[in-house]
Amino acid sequence: MKVTNEAAQLAHEDRFGQRGRLFRAPARVNLIGEHTDYTGGLVMPMAIDFHTVAVISPREDERLMFYSENYEQETFIEIPSLEGGRRGHWSDYPAGVAWSLRKEGVEFGGFNMTLAGDVPLGAGLSSSASIEVAVAMAIQAMADEHLPLEKLATLCRRAENEYVGAKSGIMDQFVVAGAVAHRAMMLDTRSLKFDLLPLPGDVRVVIANSMVKHAVATGEYGNRRDEVEAGQAVLQQERGIALLRDATLADLEACREKMTPESFARCRHIITENARVLQARETLLADDMNRFGELMVEAHKSFRDDFAASCEEVDTLVSIALRQPGCVGARITGGGFGGCTVNVVNVSAAEEFVSAVRREYAQATGIEADCFVCEPADGALALAEKGGAA
Ligand code: ADP
Ligand code: MG
Repeated sequence: MKVTNEAAQLAHEDRFGQRGRLFRAPARVNLIGEHTDYTGGLVMPMAIDFHTVAVISPREDERLMFYSENYEQETFIEIPSLEGGRRGHWSDYPAGVAWSLRKEGVEFGGFNMTLAGDVPLGAGLSSSASIEVAVAMAIQAMADEHLPLEKLATLCRRAENEYVGAKSGIMDQFVVAGAVAHRAMMLDTRSLKFDLLPLPGDVRVVIANSMVKHAVATGEYGNRRDEVEAGQAVLQQERGIALLRDATLADLEACREKMTPESFARCRHIITENARVLQARETLLADDMNRFGELMVEAHKSFRDDFAASCEEVDTLVSIALRQPGCVGARITGGGFGGCTVNVVNVSAAEEFVSAVRREYAQATGIEADCFVCEPADGALALAEKGGAA
């Protein structure tokens, strides 16, 4: 069910006896640029119409009270205890943001906070960045701060990396905070410079969840990062290249003998993927969606073959998508070894696409995929500016 501002306010009022100030942050999907954001590379996500809402009102003491409607659970932490670090609980996300903001010198006292979200948790649409950014918006408003986009995203990322303890790049927090509806964001994860690119009105973005997450995912994700970092270290030593982002295929070729075949292939994926993101930008500017779709397909193959991080079910989902009328492009999105695909489909074919993909995926695998047309959304800052914050 969609989370509404009014329902969240009512829940807050019922529980804490006060109305609060309300902030919303969306979820996101990455159109192209996978596994590039921890080597300073390029990504192209967009915000989508699932949200986390944070309602905040001040308290007289030093207590941070968090209630999550999703978990139907209330918990608190005293401000001085934030230094104690994670507790292995969902409240690590909001507490981590409070910790990160305080570390930056943002001053605030105790508060009551209600959190409610319709972002599916743990499905790769970044409910984590969504809750972090909603919480950061709420706390900064209470502290009468107006952090710029870069700072806001960086502080939320620090909460996730250092407090929650999850390795993640800057992409999620940045787009969730800074997106503009109907625009894809090409983000340079090194300089944090970005472009907002038009998405044509005659296509829709469709997400299909394969509903599988292979048990290897967590370990293999770490392995991929290690393989990439090992390759990057060779490029540093041999070619004086600080970040894989700056390497060319010729640089990589020159180092072939010095790294494992795995590192070579993983690095090749990242180098070619960065080039594809740049080309994708050009195709959006030229309104050439056919070429955009081809780039998605090339990205999928590179992820599957060079990055070796797809799986049978997801490959099946992509091939089913590509045979549907009106499908412009399809590829895996997210960390890999299962999870979701992102598809670009002509608007007139979108509804039929959803039912055909569900039907054919069920026939092929016996699994009912979750498949839906995404509505574009604004990032948290744009929402607040437009008065989304009551
Ligand atoms: P993803 O970002 O792909 O959804 P993560 O594992 O990174 O998956 O983050 C999901 C976690 O974020 C949840 O397990 C929960 O701890 C926290 N979270 C997200 N939204 C909420 C919410 N509305 N209420 C409480 N915790 C939330
Ligand atoms: Mg996440």
